[in-house]
Amino acid sequence: MTGFTPTREQRAIIEYPPVPLRVVAGAGTGKTTTIVERLAAGVRRGGDPTRALGITFTNKAADELRIRLRAAIGDRSDGREVEVATYHGFATSILEEFGAFVRYRPTTSLMDEGHRSELAYRVLRGLDSTGLDLAALSKRKEELLAMADAMTANLLTVDDIERVAPNDPDEVWQKRIALAHAAESYAAAKYQLDFLEFGDLIRLAVDLVEGFDEISSQLAARYDTVLLDEYQDTDPAQRRLLTAVFSGRETAVTAVGDADQTIYEWRGASLENFIDFPQHFPRPDGLATETLPLSINRRSDRVVLDLANEIQTLLPRLEASKPLTANDDAADGVLEVGWFTSDLEEAAWIAETIEERHRTGQPWSGFAVLCRKRSTIPAIVRALRRAEIPHAVSSMGELLTIPEVADLLAWLRLLGDPGDEPSLLRIWMGGMYRVGMRDISCLARWCSHSQGRDLAVALEHLDEVEGLTPDGQERLERFRSHHVDLRARAQMLPVPRTLSMVIDQLGFWDEVAAQPSPQSVTARVNIGRFASLAHRWRPLDGKPTLAAFLRYVDALEDATSAEELEAAADISDDVVQVITAHTAKGLEWPVVFLPCLAKGTFPTRVRTYDDPGTSALSLPYSLRLDRASYVDADSAATASDRRAVLKSRHEDAEWRLAYVAVTRAKHDLIMTGHAWDQDVGKPRSPSPLLEMAHTVAGSTTVAWVSEPGPKPAPMPEEDILDIPDPLFPNDWATALRDRIDDPQWIIDHHIELVDDVERRSEQLVMQVGNLQVPTVERSMDTFSTSVTNLVALAECPLKFKWIHHDRLPRRPRISAIAGTRFHRQVELHNLGIASLGTSTFDPNDVGGVDEATGDTPGTDRRNPWEVFEESRFHASQARFAEVPFVLSIEQGSVRGKIDAIYEHDDGTWEIVDYKSGVRRDAEARDVQLEAYALAVTDGAIAGTVPERLQVTFAYFGGTACEEVSTDVDGTWITEARSHVDDLIATAVTGPFDPRPSPSCRWCDFLHLCPAGRSTVT
Ligand code: SF4
Repeated sequence: MTGFTPTREQRAIIEYPPVPLRVVAGAGTGKTTTIVERLAAGVRRGGDPTRALGITFTNKAADELRIRLRAAIGDRSDGREVEVATYHGFATSILEEFGAFVRYRPTTSLMDEGHRSELAYRVLRGLDSTGLDLAALSKRKEELLAMADAMTANLLTVDDIERVAPNDPDEVWQKRIALAHAAESYAAAKYQLDFLEFGDLIRLAVDLVEGFDEISSQLAARYDTVLLDEYQDTDPAQRRLLTAVFSGRETAVTAVGDADQTIYEWRGASLENFIDFPQHFPRPDGLATETLPLSINRRSDRVVLDLANEIQTLLPRLEASKPLTANDDAADGVLEVGWFTSDLEEAAWIAETIEERHRTGQPWSGFAVLCRKRSTIPAIVRALRRAEIPHAVSSMGELLTIPEVADLLAWLRLLGDPGDEPSLLRIWMGGMYRVGMRDISCLARWCSHSQGRDLAVALEHLDEVEGLTPDGQERLERFRSHHVDLRARAQMLPVPRTLSMVIDQLGFWDEVAAQPSPQSVTARVNIGRFASLAHRWRPLDGKPTLAAFLRYVDALEDATSAEELEAAADISDDVVQVITAHTAKGLEWPVVFLPCLAKGTFPTRVRTYDDPGTSALSLPYSLRLDRASYVDADSAATASDRRAVLKSRHEDAEWRLAYVAVTRAKHDLIMTGHAWDQDVGKPRSPSPLLEMAHTVAGSTTVAWVSEPGPKPAPMPEEDILDIPDPLFPNDWATALRDRIDDPQWIIDHHIELVDDVERRSEQLVMQVGNLQVPTVERSMDTFSTSVTNLVALAECPLKFKWIHHDRLPRRPRISAIAGTRFHRQVELHNLGIASLGTSTFDPNDVGGVDEATGDTPGTDRRNPWEVFEESRFHASQARFAEVPFVLSIEQGSVRGKIDAIYEHDDGTWEIVDYKSGVRRDAEARDVQLEAYALAVTDGAIAGTVPERLQVTFAYFGGTACEEVSTDVDGTWITEARSHVDDLIATAVTGPFDPRPSPSCRWCDFLHLCPAGRSTVT
């Protein structure tokens, strides 16, 4: 027995007699608990658990149901337990037992979205005469798959469709029949390749149970009780399978669901299944099948439920369904609404708000951003990336475009095809090699003068290529050596091992580890998901080669609805999730953002009507298994009446999705939208959903722009890495503006003149004139940077600009990786987690030079960990280790992490920054300890402020630990604050002048910086 005390509603369901029953369970109303208790109650009354069956949608839900049933029923000495399956799993188990009667082969494999796309393309290309316009192949592929799905979900063949076709088919009918034939070829190809889709499993199982009475009777006789979870998401074929087995028999079938949460109609779910359950599953005693409600919400705070109930009023109601009621202990909750000028402003505000609430203790994983459209995800992701917030995007298509994954993919493509120039260029121009445009143009020129040989060939003839810079030549040679080595190793390796090899050999993990914490987590999650995709993959046919995998990935990139079909990734890392509203079903978060709520975006406008009169993809209503729910459309007097009915159906579906999205929030629901983005020519207006939230009592308005003004210019793409190029040290637009009146400059810089230079110059002048000046100002209020970047600013403002504002690619920092290892080792020691042996730090990693400092350590350099072990710090216990902090100052904030704080016997706190390099007394570094001390004295670390404070740099890169300590007093703090304020003011507005010094030798941007070059040469 559990300690569960049911509500009145729950008790009525748990104790309901063993006859068919429908349960209308509103969002968050404890549905799983109730159904578990209903099943467990039957067992506790003496029922045999093996005669009960629970069916739900996903493997995850099935696992949860299984675990909760075990807990509710308790350990049974006979080991008998309730059988739990997914809908598809139930069909599979039938096929595994009786599949020999139909065309089921146990060896068959399930296809995923990438396979589907790949096979659909193959089928379309292979058809002799399709009657389809194959010029837009991608569109035809989508249509073929949609037709195949519709035919499967309605158990149709081509003959069924042709049978109802008019004698003189119009264009719509011709296309419908052509698509149906293509879908049949697709089904045949699947069978030939020994592949099936989920829909095929159901269809074959229906063939079995409808074709063989003895099989359905045998199956029904096994169970007294059947529970159908999330029944509103079943499609007509699934319903046919269930009714063929269980309807009209003695089995007590309980269907649990919520018509208001039917959001998968576009992929076949039929609301009619739930609405007509009482007719589909009549009671054997002749009484009407009843419906009981669950309406007490245990998830969300009151204001969230107020909005959910408001949405519900717009939806058609089932008799028994009730508005959601808050649990007694529910808080008031937070509902914030905002309407911003632009998508950039909106996304930046969301990132800032997440950051603020994270600072108050909410883990990153407590936030989710639910987007109605996939196309709105990138703006959000860019803002999170800019704010260095760890996040994960659940869409596979989106995953492939994320920089770290795109880099890996480029390497795989290059290993598959050395002539893949887009991949080659991505890798060359990326952070690892940073080959400039000038060197690439030299290679391109060599190619054009060498009978059109490609860049890969040019790479083999670097000695013949004229004009390469020494740096460029060295980088290309380094790339060539890596490439040759990887190609040799990749021979005969399976795809997952090839991927692992690339990750290992090129130091991807080390680079990820060397990134600041938030980006590091994001990158790790994304690389991990891509690796998992490669591990799960198996080819449609033939060998699992790299080429086959790349074809699959191409198809996946092309599968626009792939992310909708995929349940949100089960991400355990502490990251913000950015997903579509459809994939959020069944999940919940303390804080949920619903962005981009503009008119026509959410609820969306109807793009195509599900109208058989005008759309070849819409099956005639008479052919649909759920035709009863289309009676109103079918009986419409005119085409325009039918459209009105279909429009209303579409709007209902959108409001149901809104209901699902809103009810994902436990405490804070934040709904926003924007007037301007680059896709529109006139400003958008708030969506009815946002307007509704705006008027809910208890909602707070965080921004509401009534006059959006003129369309803002696009924000510069900060996180798209600019290509480092000696020709354009600032940026392309500036260079163009600067040079447009000085054609001689082009000649001086060896740019090849083309024949029609005048005409092109004119075009260029026009284009430059049209370049928009970004109007999005960086807000002083929201400026945020890291302590590391402040040190860079103190060293050289120009370097800071290229790190923080322009974000030019930086050299892979081997010293940073080695330093990270050392710090990690010390951190573990300070946390008492592990006592590690010799550090893996190797001074040779950095070629004998501490890149971060520019120090040349000399020959007597020791392993820093050994030096640490001998120091006083090893013997002492740090009071705090690796403490992150955010220092709020007048103009913004500074993030950082303090290595350790030691507390001495006299109460003094000593802030220590460990350096793995040798001592270097550089004034610019002082800001690091200044920021740390300010954070401590402002109470940002522990809430308490020590009476005495000391700051220390401890260097472990020499033969013995060297310490540089300073006692902190009031004057020191005042000066430190003024210094940090001055630096922040410069960081926001400049000037970003170069400040050359001997350290320029190790600056990542030396090749871009004439001032730096003149210092070191
Ligand atoms: S090379 Fe020197 S002057 Fe130029 S950006 Fe780097 S540090 Fe500044």
